[in-house]
Amino acid sequence: MRAAWTTDGGVWHLGFRLDAEDGITGTVTDGQAVRMATSSCRVRLPRPLPDVHPDLSALAAWTVVAPWTTRRITFDRPVSRGLAAAIEQGFGIEAGPVGATPRTGSRLAISYSGGADSVAVAAMLPDAPLVHFQRVPHQRVPNRWTHYRADVLAKLAARTGRELTIVQSDLEFTLAEPRPGYPEHHAVAAGAILMADELDLGGIAFGYEMGSRWLGGGRYLHRYTPHNPMWSPGGRWGRVFAAAGLPMVLPVGGVSEAVTMRLALGSPLREQVRWCLRGDDGGPCGVCGKCLYKELIQAAIERRPLRTTITASRPVAAKWQQPPPYGGQEMIEYGCARVPGIEGTPFAKAAGYLGATEESTGWLERCYRPAIEELPDPWRKQVADFMAGEVGFMTHSEARHVEMWGQGT
Ligand SMILES: [Zn+2]
Repeated sequence: MRAAWTTDGGVWHLGFRLDAEDGITGTVTDGQAVRMATSSCRVRLPRPLPDVHPDLSALAAWTVVAPWTTRRITFDRPVSRGLAAAIEQGFGIEAGPVGATPRTGSRLAISYSGGADSVAVAAMLPDAPLVHFQRVPHQRVPNRWTHYRADVLAKLAARTGRELTIVQSDLEFTLAEPRPGYPEHHAVAAGAILMADELDLGGIAFGYEMGSRWLGGGRYLHRYTPHNPMWSPGGRWGRVFAAAGLPMVLPVGGVSEAVTMRLALGSPLREQVRWCLRGDDGGPCGVCGKCLYKELIQAAIERRPLRTTITASRPVAAKWQQPPPYGGQEMIEYGCARVPGIEGTPFAKAAGYLGATEESTGWLERCYRPAIEELPDPWRKQVADFMAGEVGFMTHSEARHVEMWGQGT
């Protein structure tokens, strides 16, 4: 694989070319197979930059091309030995050319989507600048996802009143299948990475919570994952980001979505929280799968019946009519144990299968301490103090729920 950037003012064009051994079907770190739609994309920064360290441009490119790289990645400028070594050791990919000195920075920025998890991070780190990724159409790939209102999310981010950088990109359209999206999850940070020298960044905070970091939630593993290859500091991506002077920081990595939802809705950014990609200025759509899932969590923390028009027969509710395992299952257990009248909702069947109780899900209201211990030094104490004051830590036996997750299923 060869990856090269060209710039035109604040617009960065990434072009990549496959080597003979590469194919257009690749594999993401989480195991998902992805098919390439096109071999170029753009990242529009808010202003032209005088200079960007080659490790930053290489890392930004790597978040896009990694799934399709089989043996070797050749960047357009020499990178540091540390970055090349991190790619070689973590991915088994030869990386070069080598010849730059390592970079460092000092501030922590938040990769900010506007969803409850990243709002919780923003509430925890009130002085940290936000960097928001906004999807824009690709010049050569038809946009079959026009209901995705990235413009609304960017507008909400601007209303936070926080120091904000909005980065626009079409990089999600490099994916043909399963659908447009980040080639690697880390590509959401491509703009923050390119801006890192300009903003003097020494770390990037992500809103990945306990389910993603430790329980293997979502579309991938469904078990305890201390060595999570995407989000642990010692994993392949953790080491590559650190080598570029941008360690990944997961301030909410030790708490569940029940906690991030509570923190977000109790924060000054409450009015700007939006997890739905389809809603407009009037609010979230209320009928997508994400809205249904988040409504279950919100109803649970507010101790009220579910407010939804979605019935069990709707396609977005189909998975809750099947037996577990489910992606994000810990939160389904949490919600089913706490929402009054769950037997009259689309989650009735799931609730029956899971048999969860308030007692069996109480651990989801506290912080898993190892998530704090793995935070980089400059930011650990601030997050630890926040958790001690606002959330509290799991007992030893509660932590066992995390560490036994997925066993016997
Ligand atoms: Zn929705």
